This record gives sequence, C-alpha cells and structure tokens, in this order.
Amino acid sequence: MFVSGTLPGDALVRLAAKHEVVQDELGIAGDAFAAASDRIKGMLALLTDRIDDALLARCPHLRVLANVAVGVDNVDLAACAARNVVVTNTPDVLTEATADLAFGLLLAAARRIAEGDRFVRAGRWTGWTPTFFLGARVHGSTLGLVGLGRIGGAMARRARGFGIHVLYNQRRRLPEPLERALGATWVPSLDELCAASDAISIHCPLTTETRHLFDAARLAKMRLGSILVNTARGPIVDEAALAAALERGPLFAAGLDVYEGEPAVHAALLARENVVMAPHIGSADGPTRAAMAGLAADNVLAVLAGDPPLTRVVAK
Ligand code: NAP
Repeated sequence: MFVSGTLPGDALVRLAAKHEVVQDELGIAGDAFAAASDRIKGMLALLTDRIDDALLARCPHLRVLANVAVGVDNVDLAACAARNVVVTNTPDVLTEATADLAFGLLLAAARRIAEGDRFVRAGRWTGWTPTFFLGARVHGSTLGLVGLGRIGGAMARRARGFGIHVLYNQRRRLPEPLERALGATWVPSLDELCAASDAISIHCPLTTETRHLFDAARLAKMRLGSILVNTARGPIVDEAALAAALERGPLFAAGLDVYEGEPAVHAALLARENVVMAPHIGSADGPTRAAMAGLAADNVLAVLAGDPPLTRVVAK
C-alpha cells in the first residue's frame, strides 16, 4: 500500500503490521509512488494529491483510496467508481477542531487581533484612546452559516455561547427539531443570508456548484461592515473579488484558512491589513490529525480485509 506524506499517531505502525507499506513525503509526485503504483492495493492520500483517472490508470490493482480529509474535491469520484475503487474520507473526527479555528478567525478578524499583534511588534503603539483600533462587535451579532452540516453545526454551538443569533442556508432545510437544538434559523436564499448577517462563515464542500459561490456580485450583497470567514475550500471564494470588497466595501474584514491556489495567496490579499490568514490548519491539532490518520488507516485495513469501509464517500 502507498502512504502519501507523513502520518501522525500510530496509523503507519498499524498499517505496516498487516501490509507492505511504501511511503513518500513527496506524495504521488515522488519516485517511491512511481516505483510502486502498479502493485498497490490501498492508498492513503492527502488533499494536496490530485486523484484523477490518469493517476488511477497507473494503479490497476488499487481497491481503496482513503483521503486523509473530509473534503474530497481533490478526488475524481466518478473515475474511482468506474474503476471500482472505494473512496473514504475522515468526517466527524475533525469537526470540532475545524470549528475551533473558524471561530478563532471570526474573533481575530472582527477584533483585529492579528493586525494588533503586528502593530505592537512594529513599535507603532503610542497609547490608548477611545477611538483607537475599533473593531466589529461579535457578541450579540448575527452569524450566517453557509452549510449547517457537521462543522457548520459545531460553529452554531460555539456561537450560542457568545449570544450570537445564527442563520443558515444550504440546499436542504434541516428538520425543525434539529434547527431548534442548534438554535439556527433557516434563510431560503444565500443572498438573503448575506443581507441579514454581520458575519458569514462558509462550511459547504467545494463542488462545481460552490466554486466562486462568493464572487463579486455575492460579496456585494453582504452587509456594510461585515466579515467573511472561509475554512471550507479556497475556490469557493473569488480571491480577487474578496480583496476588492475588503478595500472598497462592503466588508470590514475576512478570516481565511484556505486559498484558491494553495500555498500561493493572491497578492492583493497579502497586501491588506484587514485579512487574518491561517495556512490551511483547520484540523491541525495533534489529537485530531492522529485521529484522521487512524480513521484513514482503518478504512484501508477494512476494505483490504474484505470488510465494509467505516466512512465511504459515494458520488452524488
Ligand atoms: P458536511 O457535514 O457534509 O456539511 C456540508 C454542508 O454543506 C451540508 O450541510 C450541505 O447541505 C451544505 N452544502 C452543500 N452544498 C451546498 C451549497 N451548494 N450551498 C450551500 N450549502 C451547501 O461537511 P463538513 O464535515 O461540515 O465539512 C465541510 C467542508 O469543510 C468540507 O467539505 C471541507 O472542504 C471543509 N473542511 C476544511 C478543513 C480545513 O482544514 N480548513 C477541515 C475540515 C473540513 P445541503 O447538502 O443540504 O446543501
């Protein structure tokens, strides 16, 4: 089997106890993969690995592809299905960690925490005044969630503790008892969600439908002085349009963990003080990353043992 990159926790040891393991920090671009691809039966892939039909053609014996991520936008699911390759992901185990980061980005963007840190370190702080470094209010504000799935739901639970009013939009409205439990109110269109929210946090997958969901026209629908948080996938937001909306309005600030061309970031965003940027670390706490690797390993071990996978992804 092939393991792309390095895995935290004991996943590698457990895999190696049952199967020959070939590992390469360079992932599918490395020499180790090229040498082993025509015999591997299982593979642990990273979100940076593009799994398309050409790649699958190099792996004629592949039976299971375990993506070490919940998002599977890097995988051609139809090509995998056509070649009878089972695809799995890592839902649930990263939900809380990712919501932690999204909430942190909301706080940091609204209250200018990273900008303040740069300001103090640069020796530019000369004293306190009542109008100095004013930010946007978080407690008691209205937060619009794009996607009230696992991570969106965890975000809604965090928001409650801050007295935040939670709205959401997605394709299917949730059953009312679940809405009540999460304290979230359905808004029938994304434009209405934008118009009604002081901050928007994106928690939907990247699909053909959601690519550039936040383009210039949609960003223009957001409230004056509002905040956009994206911990989902970079291409959901048009970065050039976001930079313009941060410069000319209506946005007050943005908090980003993901980017259109990672690890590159649009120069116009890098130039702005009112963007807080994390380097795609939504799930990056130690126990979470170990759990993701462990779940991916369990999926591969199950399929290669003839058992059903724990968390299968099927093309919709
Ligand atoms: P999930 O439980 O499947 O939730 C996704 C939600 O998005 C669903 O409620 C879905 O509802 C909604 N949705 C789908 N298409 C939509 C659309 N066109 N417009 C509005 N809403 C839409 O997924 P999750 O576990 O919360 O993960 C969400 C995403 O977070 C992942 O796909 C991944 O890309 C990203 N993520 C990022 C990091 C990071 O490190 N930054 C870590 C983990 C996950 P409907 O189907 O009813 O529309």
